Amino acid sequence: MTIYSSHIAVAVALPVEGSYTYGVPDALAPLATPGKRVLVPFGRRRVTGYVLGETVPSGGYAVKRILDVLDPVPLFPPEMIPFFKWVADYYMHPLGEVIQCALPGGLNVYDRLTVSATPGGLTVFEAGGRDLTPLEREVMTRLKSGPCRLKDLRERRVPAALVQTLEDRGWLVREAVLQGGVARPRMERFAARGDGTPPASLSRARRDILALLESCEEMSISDIKAQVPTAPRLVRAMVEQGLVRVYEKQVYRDPFGEPIPPDTPRTLNPEQAGVVAEVDAVTGKGFCPFLLAGVTGSGKTEVYLHLARKVMEKGLPVLVLVPEIALISQMERRFRARFGEAVAVLHSGLSAGERLDQWQRILNREAAVVIGARSAVFAPLDHIGLVIVDEEHDTSYKQGADLLYNARDIAVVRAKLSDAVVILGSATPSVHTCYNVRTGKFRELRIRRRVASRPLPEITVVDLKKVADTRGARRFITPPLHAAMTAALERKEQVLLFLNRRGFASFPVCAACGEALRCVHCDITLTYHRLAGVYRCHYCGYTRKAPCDCPACGPAPIKLLGMGTEKVEAAVKALFPDARVARMDRDTTTRKGSVVRILKSLRKGAVDVLVGTQMVAKGHDFPNITVVGVICADLSLSFPDFRAGERTFQLLAQVAGRAGRGDAPGRMILQTFTPDHFSIVAATRQDYEAFYKVEIGFRRALGYPPVSRIIQLRISGVDPEATRETAEALGSVCRELLQQEAVYRKWVTLLGPVEASIQKIAGRYRWQMLVKGLRIGPLRRFVRAVSSAAPNLFRHPGVRVVIDVDPYFL
Ligand code: ADP
Ligand code: ZN
Repeated sequence: MTIYSSHIAVAVALPVEGSYTYGVPDALAPLATPGKRVLVPFGRRRVTGYVLGETVPSGGYAVKRILDVLDPVPLFPPEMIPFFKWVADYYMHPLGEVIQCALPGGLNVYDRLTVSATPGGLTVFEAGGRDLTPLEREVMTRLKSGPCRLKDLRERRVPAALVQTLEDRGWLVREAVLQGGVARPRMERFAARGDGTPPASLSRARRDILALLESCEEMSISDIKAQVPTAPRLVRAMVEQGLVRVYEKQVYRDPFGEPIPPDTPRTLNPEQAGVVAEVDAVTGKGFCPFLLAGVTGSGKTEVYLHLARKVMEKGLPVLVLVPEIALISQMERRFRARFGEAVAVLHSGLSAGERLDQWQRILNREAAVVIGARSAVFAPLDHIGLVIVDEEHDTSYKQGADLLYNARDIAVVRAKLSDAVVILGSATPSVHTCYNVRTGKFRELRIRRRVASRPLPEITVVDLKKVADTRGARRFITPPLHAAMTAALERKEQVLLFLNRRGFASFPVCAACGEALRCVHCDITLTYHRLAGVYRCHYCGYTRKAPCDCPACGPAPIKLLGMGTEKVEAAVKALFPDARVARMDRDTTTRKGSVVRILKSLRKGAVDVLVGTQMVAKGHDFPNITVVGVICADLSLSFPDFRAGERTFQLLAQVAGRAGRGDAPGRMILQTFTPDHFSIVAATRQDYEAFYKVEIGFRRALGYPPVSRIIQLRISGVDPEATRETAEALGSVCRELLQQEAVYRKWVTLLGPVEASIQKIAGRYRWQMLVKGLRIGPLRRFVRAVSSAAPNLFRHPGVRVVIDVDPYFL
């Protein structure tokens, strides 16, 4: 048995618990530092693992050794390891997979060669160049103009031995560089060279290329190709002719686009100043969690900017989380206007390469502020001073696949482990966070007034039950909404119409037999999308070309019942033929940058009416919108979820906040079938207190979070029988365990297994079980005990069991 002088703990990226101990051969010892990837033997496989730190083997078993260290530099600061461990433990997820999920994709390392910077490297070559073989000369000439990948030289048939010779002479240096693994065009550029007088007999294409380069010194080959298609084929010959040179330039791929003009900090009003002072007093002095509650347009973002500056002045970085990409662009603009280059962004809208570059900038401490969507909670920052979670109530903070974390919740944990201050900000705080305030876990900060005392919009409720049976477009745009829109458009103001459902018709039924068109994979009706000319399933994406036959009775006209944003858009166009209408929902924003484009044309005044889903409800600042119409407030109430009331209140209050953010006062017309529902009543009065009181009463009575905690076990499979059997078997294991252990009986309540409210999605049958109780600790212990008592059920070949701690949709 080999004895190694050092041992490390490694988390492997496999579905296994905890970490493993490996021996480190002496040659690798200085390299195997925390935060790097290593290649390790695992069973009969070789797998990637992450170095957590040194450890002492517990003895009694043979320790295997690591095979290689894969990274030149750590991929995350070692300070983050306790955070990863916390997340893995809390969500019962393998540690290695947590780290894998946190890191940007496409991490690759390649060998890069540069001409040695030591005195002599180049001069020796230039003076003694005569002794070189032509190939050696070519390599040196190539490298003189900039670094080059070893791989590229190999592709040009340069033998490894030749490179080795040059390295041995001390002319070349080899270094390992971290690089994105996506195939992007190489960043090689041309530059004009020589005395500027090209040889006379040049082809048209070559002259065009030189002309291009004259105008801008250097360009990427792909940009040149756009204008001179044959350029890539001419590169080599032109280099040989001495007309251009080609070199590789290491640039951070810029995700930002156009530059942002700088702005100056506003003078805070007394309420804002009070908040800044209160938070500033505790930053840098340990963990402190705040809720910042302030109505929309009360200047919360301005408060974030002021606080960020103060924290940055203390030399500490700031992490800002925003629920979704559409809102990042706005937050990013305001932060970049204030802090310029110090801002980094991390979100899924970046290409893999851009994301990796941002990751490296943060890792190299070149960014003092990181703004991002939920995954940015894993940004490789150390010693964070301030964490801001904006729109903290937003459900997008919950990740719905793989590692089922809630970024808002773990942002608080991250702050705690970094001794940082954390601010959860919202105009409509989640019941969860408010509960934390009332129970003393969080401190509350409030901004009661809107900036410049802009009043909140006046709200008119329209009872859809009482609207006379009008047909066509007027069913969605009732007379009061129509009148308000007409007046606003006459005043050249803008209108926002909100409906929380996309598509044209959500309930297409056969006119002959009444049968609804359903998805073949899901237990759900299809939605008709008029523009695309298809029926589509909003759960699995299944599409069926329109027109189509009724599945029950064959050729028959299909009635397009149920509404969606596309139908509202059509209604607006019919009633206001002169208005310029835009639509913002998931269908119109699939392409990168489309959200920003829509928002821009709105801001420019190129749009009169914007129709949208909840995407428009969130946080955007639209100064010229004076009328907001809610087409049907009830849609989110019909969700089979205990948070339906909360979500409805938040959506309505947020949508109302979009009106009257400029100088003109705003109005909201709220159409609903249930004007007496407490969520709707509270939203029309913007009365959070009233809403919270009723809602927390329900939660208490029914034992729902935040008063209790829940772990959901989701069982799904393609075979309905096997799925049901697994669900029931799991249920019996749970009940047996409750029988055996009194502690579990005391702390754990079991609900189910039952079929999920949507019984089939994407061809998988679904069951669920709820594990409920006052404290999360015993619930987690219970679920762990179940999974070790019945490991086969958790690894059943055809059936998947997913553990969701703090689930969002029940
Ligand atoms: P919130 O984030 O709460 O919605 P914002 O910070 O976006 O509010 O502020 C709303 C608007 O008021 C923005 O246009 C912002 O620039 C402006 N604003 C915020 N604070 C001030 C201030 N102290 N003085 C003047 N304008 C302000
Ligand atoms: Zn489907």
